[in-house]
Amino acid sequence: MHGTFAPPQDSPLVDPFARRITYLRVSVTDRCDFRCQYCMAEEMTFLPKADLLTLEELDRLCSAFVARGVRKLRLTGGEPLVRRGLTTLISSLGRHLKSGALDELTLTTNGSQLARFAPELAAAGVRRVNVSLDTLDPDEFRRITRRGDLAPVLDGIAAARAAGIAVKLNTVALKGVNEEQILPLVAFAHEAGLDITFIETMPMGDIDGDRTDHYLPLDAVRRQIETRYTLAPSAYRTGGPARYMHVQGSGRRIGFITPLSHNFCESCNRVRLTCTGTLYLCLGQDDAADLRAVLRETDDDRVLHAAIDAAIARKPKGHDFVIDRPGAAPAVKRHMNTTGG
Ligand code: SAM
Ligand code: SF4
Repeated sequence: MHGTFAPPQDSPLVDPFARRITYLRVSVTDRCDFRCQYCMAEEMTFLPKADLLTLEELDRLCSAFVARGVRKLRLTGGEPLVRRGLTTLISSLGRHLKSGALDELTLTTNGSQLARFAPELAAAGVRRVNVSLDTLDPDEFRRITRRGDLAPVLDGIAAARAAGIAVKLNTVALKGVNEEQILPLVAFAHEAGLDITFIETMPMGDIDGDRTDHYLPLDAVRRQIETRYTLAPSAYRTGGPARYMHVQGSGRRIGFITPLSHNFCESCNRVRLTCTGTLYLCLGQDDAADLRAVLRETDDDRVLHAAIDAAIARKPKGHDFVIDRPGAAPAVKRHMNTTGG
């Protein structure tokens, strides 16, 4: 039964391609205080609140995955810090850090509320966060996010660091939008002692425009960075899909996430849970399992573990992202805020 059933510690989640699942990303809400152009349309219809998993249900599900060998949990969204009560969930999940069952509990955030929550996050055991930052120009920031202010995000980064939380920046590279900001962002990151990762836009969900217009392969970003910095390959990995380069002389790293130009599926160790309890087995595929129905049907965790096993047995080999066909429909219909970036 729920709470009393302990799955055998030697029953890790292994998919049909012998990849061990050790990383769960959880979208705790589809809502957000920004409307980034590459992520959402200006007018979005969000899910009714009744469809969301409660904080207790999220805790039960995350804990079931931890019991099966998940070592890293990342809370994302939407904007995770706009979900009411999120710090209660984080504090509760912190018990798995204390017990040693979990290596890392982390967040991806737009940073708008980070200044307020940083001390609570640190107290709950959060040691690293990823903050999305696509530009250091306040007007451009407003244009890209359609409603965000840059200053609170910079304050949030400072507050997180003051609370002892390491910050990594995530920047989506957008042709004709923030190309001019790549070198300033690298300089900002390195002066502040932060790592930064660049990401290619992924074709997820309809937005008001065509992503092919703004697709910037990261080879071009790297060439631009190399006009000013000397990069050397690095073996550093965080358990995510980024490949890192060392910046000679600064001791910092730059990551590159290239889902489109270089496939990284063969080493995939993760699955994604939405705020409604749907488990997506791959960011770029539609196949999913409805774990909310199982959660609400029974308190028996054996049934939940059987449903998780059945889902992992269907994890596909890889994604089918293609972005080089102008006007083509997105590879998957759901937006990034649904699955969690
Ligand atoms: N709101 C939080 C944030 O912005 O960090 C967390 C959720 S957001 C969906 C997670 C990450 O996905 C962000 O770094 C964002 O820039 C990135 N993202 C959103 N839509 C994307 C897309 N279509 N292609 C590539 N990255 C995307
Ligand atoms: Fe919100 Fe993050 Fe999507 Fe921007 S990228 S709209 S901050 S969920």
